[in-house]
Amino acid sequence: MLLSISTTHSPATDLGYLLHKHPDKVQRFDLSFGPAYVFYPEAQVGRSTAVLLLDIDPVKLVRKQSPGAGFALQPYVNDRPYVASSFLSTAIAQVYGSALNGRCKERPELVDRPLPLQAVVTAVAVHGSHGFWQRLFEPLGYTVTAKRHPLDTHFPTWGDSRYLTITLENHVRLRELLTHLYVLLPVLDDDKHYWVGEDEVTKLLQKGEGWLAAHPEREQITTRYLKHRRHLTRAALAQLAEEDNPDPDTAVAEQDAAELKAEEHMGLHQQRLTAVVATLKASGAQRVLDLGCGEGKLIRLLLKEKQFSHILGMDVSYRSLETAAERLRLDNLPTPQRERVTLHHGSLIYRDKRLAGYDAAAVVEVIEHLDPPRLAAFARVLFAFARPSMVIITTPNREYNALWPSLPAGHFRHRDHRFEWSRAEFRAWAEEVAEEYGYTVHMAPIGPVDEAVGAPSQMGIFSRE
Ligand code: SAH
Repeated sequence: MLLSISTTHSPATDLGYLLHKHPDKVQRFDLSFGPAYVFYPEAQVGRSTAVLLLDIDPVKLVRKQSPGAGFALQPYVNDRPYVASSFLSTAIAQVYGSALNGRCKERPELVDRPLPLQAVVTAVAVHGSHGFWQRLFEPLGYTVTAKRHPLDTHFPTWGDSRYLTITLENHVRLRELLTHLYVLLPVLDDDKHYWVGEDEVTKLLQKGEGWLAAHPEREQITTRYLKHRRHLTRAALAQLAEEDNPDPDTAVAEQDAAELKAEEHMGLHQQRLTAVVATLKASGAQRVLDLGCGEGKLIRLLLKEKQFSHILGMDVSYRSLETAAERLRLDNLPTPQRERVTLHHGSLIYRDKRLAGYDAAAVVEVIEHLDPPRLAAFARVLFAFARPSMVIITTPNREYNALWPSLPAGHFRHRDHRFEWSRAEFRAWAEEVAEEYGYTVHMAPIGPVDEAVGAPSQMGIFSRE
């Protein structure tokens, strides 16, 4: 079982400091399940690679096991010594513990610096639907490639095995890479070599801080990490929900129910959607993203316009996507219509390759649902990575709330809103983002304009320079 970590950061030999492992020697660590070795097949200024080799001893494993089911030789003849599993996570924690915890005495400034890193894991046993490994790592910004190993090279007709070599590339901090591997490799493997109890929930929440709560596969990750122990999984998910957007599904349902009466009365949402469709039409866009598409109201309008050849709707709430699919009657549409729409489950604060190659993106009443510290990641995902020619973002104008007697002073329009911006605040954010990513931005009101407080909703139209 090998885990290689390479960098092309200059000087690449810094990897030795970060991992606390000197590139010039082979080091051995005796772990309870067999020895681990760290060595550097290459340590140049341009590129360095550190390899962690696990030499798991199956006989040691058997001694620790209670006699169980399976065929008589099963404890000796299995894939545990050869695949990345929870043994590798334990080795990462014990051998690369300082790096995993973000400590580097000699080069402390390196710890917080994202570096060009590549990890190769040989081999991974994948339990799960096709592409599960991509769904785990891509939302975290990794480019993932996988090479499947044949069942037996002498008998190609037997086809492929379920073992893969996975390569992950990303510009991240080393401690983040190690943390993602630590949590996600046992998730791919769907097993744990040790008893999973309450403290495993704490460990998961601690290691998952800052990325797990908004990960589109957080449920699968949590369930598998906690070895399918229901009450632990429930406890962990409840805490994750608190950390991020509370259960996004519940939040959406509540939001729909709580939709402000005044907004409804003036048909504001319809006006918003009409304004967005008109702007998209005028731009000449054909391939359009609807990000945070909710139950698909905008998609329905876009489908009516032949100009839009493809529409991708994405939302973090799986339940909303199911409702969207139902309301759009996707299953009953004739094939050419059906093929114009794709619905994706994903989060806007993680880089997602599926969002690249579109002409325009609409983000209607979504940003106010993001925690302010996440806005920078959102802007990067949208403007740096997806990078459509046009982006339309709508959000409430807080100043207008004063005209709604039904809204107590200081309250937001929806319970799930994390903020509501004034016109000046939205403009300041939009101009800063436009400047940073090479767009120009134009602001427009939506709904009736009051002389003093403006319109109830506002729209920023960004065009790539
Ligand atoms: N655009 C839709 C829905 C707006 S409600 C409409 O105008 O009708 C806000 C939507 O943003 C919800 O569906 C919510 O699930 C989604 N959302 C919130 N945070 C998100 C995130 N991080 N990534 C993707 N969607 C998100």
